[in-house]
Amino acid sequence: MKKKHQHDELLRTAKTKVTKPRLAVLKCLGESEQPLSPKDILEIIKNDADLEQTDLVTVYRILDTFSKIDLVHQVHPSGGYLICEHPSCSRGTHILLTCIQCKQANEIEIPNEIFASTQWFIETEFNFELNQHLFQIDGTCKACKKNYSKV
Ligand SMILES: [Zn+2]
Ligand SMILES: [Zn+2]
Repeated sequence: MKKKHQHDELLRTAKTKVTKPRLAVLKCLGESEQPLSPKDILEIIKNDADLEQTDLVTVYRILDTFSKIDLVHQVHPSGGYLICEHPSCSRGTHILLTCIQCKQANEIEIPNEIFASTQWFIETEFNFELNQHLFQIDGTCKACKKNYSKV
């Protein structure tokens, strides 16, 4: 189940301007169970008469702004976007578990004491410094695994 977000509050907390198109983009991502492409988002928000004039460039720009402040995340390889479930996303380590069957993406938080050894291994063995806190792992979700085992 997705949490209900207060979308205007999310924008305010992120110290970014609250505008009608921004709110609409955030709202439709918040209500979607699956990542949405900029085109999908545009289709949905255009249903609002006030936003009829919104174009794809605007949607891209909004998503770009939101990505930078971790309000949304982009899922690969589809390039779709989903809303961040963690108000303090840039702190801690998160993994996007993405189902290759139903395309649902679920953002989970990995406790530091679990991830620390992996990070230590990468940094000492490969002298590679991590500057990302969000990773994506593809697989099969619980629901799809259940369906699959029935066949
Ligand atoms: Zn996040
Ligand atoms: Zn699935």
